[in-house]
Amino acid sequence: MRATAVSLKDLTKHYGTTKAVDQISLDIPAGSFTALLGPSGCGKSTTLSMIAGLIVPNGGNICFDETSVLNTPAESRSAALVFQKPLLFPHLDVAHNVGFGLRMKRRKRRDIRHSVDEMLERVHLKDLATRRVGQLSGGQAQRVALARALVIQPRLLLLDEPFSQLDPDLCVEMRSLVRELHNQTRVTAIFVTHDQSEAVEVADRIALMLDGRLAGYGPPEGFYTDPPSLAAARFFGVLNEIAGTVFDNVFTDGSGFLRLPTSLNNGRAVAVVRPESLSIGNTTNHQMMRATVVTSRFAGTHRAIQVSLVTGELLTIHGPIDTKVAPGDAVAVTIPTQHCTVFGKAVLRNTVLRSDLA
Ligand code: ADP
Ligand code: MG
Repeated sequence: MRATAVSLKDLTKHYGTTKAVDQISLDIPAGSFTALLGPSGCGKSTTLSMIAGLIVPNGGNICFDETSVLNTPAESRSAALVFQKPLLFPHLDVAHNVGFGLRMKRRKRRDIRHSVDEMLERVHLKDLATRRVGQLSGGQAQRVALARALVIQPRLLLLDEPFSQLDPDLCVEMRSLVRELHNQTRVTAIFVTHDQSEAVEVADRIALMLDGRLAGYGPPEGFYTDPPSLAAARFFGVLNEIAGTVFDNVFTDGSGFLRLPTSLNNGRAVAVVRPESLSIGNTTNHQMMRATVVTSRFAGTHRAIQVSLVTGELLTIHGPIDTKVAPGDAVAVTIPTQHCTVFGKAVLRNTVLRSDLA
């Protein structure tokens, strides 16, 4: 098992009555690449700034390699930061911007030149070493910022929405560059973003933040296949929610039944399932819900089919392009057991939908 590089324990920051960060506990493995993901205002930048030492928490602890850094000033934490805006020194050229940190550390001139050259090569800026930074494009300036951050071999690389001001094509290129740099350096990295597709592209782990709290931490796949909460499922865009009730460990909404594998309190519950996990099945299949086709539309890579359950609830299904259904058709919607999650007072997984339970 990998060692923990950064450990947050009940980390908290209040601004008056606003709980910007509310008791976050998180262990980030050494060498991992974590995306700190969540909607605007959920506390991502505040969390990152506390890790960097730029904001003092109201409570909790931050440890680097199991030692608290609460009393360690920002400049001694060996954390390199890259922000939305590159914040370069306008009077210096590219190479001198990149070498700045090493000059501060009083490294030998020859070593600095060597490290800067190597870093510029890695960010594909070798030809622009002597250019003033004011004459760079947004993408080039951000490459300089990345090079400047990494050249000092920090123990932590912290990035706060670094590509959000770049146009989409450039974003894709920069994400792949940052991944490449991480593969080469294996520096522990934390990347703040509000964009789930960016998080999935760059990171090997996602820490989801909602309303100042941690709403899940793990590999990206888990947030899609096995969301930790209804709020997390919604953030990742589960489009289908089936409201129903649980009684004696059976979920029903009137269109079918889910037999629950573990016990859930009686009462209201919600089943969530992604459109690509649903399919139009045949009525002999037990794992199905009865429905009527409302619309069927070609959507490029799939056919988007909207169906209405007996209860009137609408579900969206992403099926194969050649699915032949027309509005008004009575169909059975098949839910594969491993792709449906029911949230009641407890979270249940791998539910089995049964239409023959009464
Ligand atoms: P994010 O980076 O996820 O968009 P922030 O960490 O910047 O969110 O902010 C979290 C919450 O804290 C927001 O409600 C924001 O308005 C509030 N906040 C952040 N900084 C301050 C501050 N200096 N003073 C008062 N409120 C702040
Ligand atoms: Mg922010």
